[in-house]
Amino acid sequence: MSETIGFIGLGVMGVPMAHNLVQAGHELVVHDHGREPVEELVAAGAAGASSSREVAERSDVIITMLPDSPAVESVVYGDDGVLAGASEGDLLVDMSTIHPTVSEAVAKAAGERGVAALDAPVSGGDVGAQQGTLSIMVGGDAADFERARPLFEVLGKTVVHVGGPGAGQVVKACNQVVVALTIAAVSEALVLGDKAGVQPDVILDVLGGGLAANRVMEMRRKNFLEHDFTPGFRIDLHHKDLNIALETGDACGVPLPITALVQQYLRTLRAKGHGGDDHSGILQLVEELAEHRIGERQTTTKA
Ligand code: NAD
Repeated sequence: MSETIGFIGLGVMGVPMAHNLVQAGHELVVHDHGREPVEELVAAGAAGASSSREVAERSDVIITMLPDSPAVESVVYGDDGVLAGASEGDLLVDMSTIHPTVSEAVAKAAGERGVAALDAPVSGGDVGAQQGTLSIMVGGDAADFERARPLFEVLGKTVVHVGGPGAGQVVKACNQVVVALTIAAVSEALVLGDKAGVQPDVILDVLGGGLAANRVMEMRRKNFLEHDFTPGFRIDLHHKDLNIALETGDACGVPLPITALVQQYLRTLRAKGHGGDDHSGILQLVEELAEHRIGERQTTTKA
């Protein structure tokens, strides 16, 4: 008999991920703070539940896709939470991006109740969630990973077991460092090139064919060129993720000076009211520093 899947946290990522699981034929029980996304999934064939506890009571494998560590702690440990409703032998798969130490604590608390746990954060954004092409980095026991693998293969294209509890979150922190620093680097290159007289689309075209090519330039091209900072991935969430990277660096004795600088960029943007913008909105701060907005010139003067 196939397992019933619980899904808690139906936001930008959770909604398309849950849809993909329903479409793949899985029986789903869903819950979110908000009513609208639950109604949307119920209309697609899932069952709705009024609490995380109820989801756990009615499921064998419980997936969570929540904003941050406090949200995961409240959904897992709360009186109406997952561990209050889960039975021995159930599997909790947290796909949120949270602090590795919180994932380790969740795995320990779950294990004490006979519930297995994996941390399985993702990269690939809302588009990857919609297309089922996420990269999924999984920490936890190898046998539990194999149990969840068929679900991961519905949600993602690159699915890797990276180590024990918390290891998935460590790899995700590494991922977030590279993405944030790349956005900052592309922003600086665009402002430099544009203020020096070259069209920004031309810069992206040429850089895309050489060693400087990267997915940020490809996926966020339109955002940079049109100053369209509709999320996507919010600056608030990336600020949270760089804090995780810096705290993990602190715990391990690893200096992360460039990450720290970009984290201050994100904090500045939040203070200026841009926390809800897509992370490509780092460009706005780089433009402000140079007193120059890209893309306003009509012709390329240097080619
Ligand atoms: P989101 O804020 O859009 O969605 C989170 C959902 O969780 C919301 O619907 C909210 O109502 C729900 N929620 C919060 N607390 C709850 C609770 N106690 N009980 C029930 N529901 C609760 O966030 P998102 O963009 O979907 O991101 C989710 C996670 O995935 C985050 O950790 C984020 O860092 C990570 N992530 C996001 C992206 C992206 O592009 N958006 C990409 C990769 C990873």
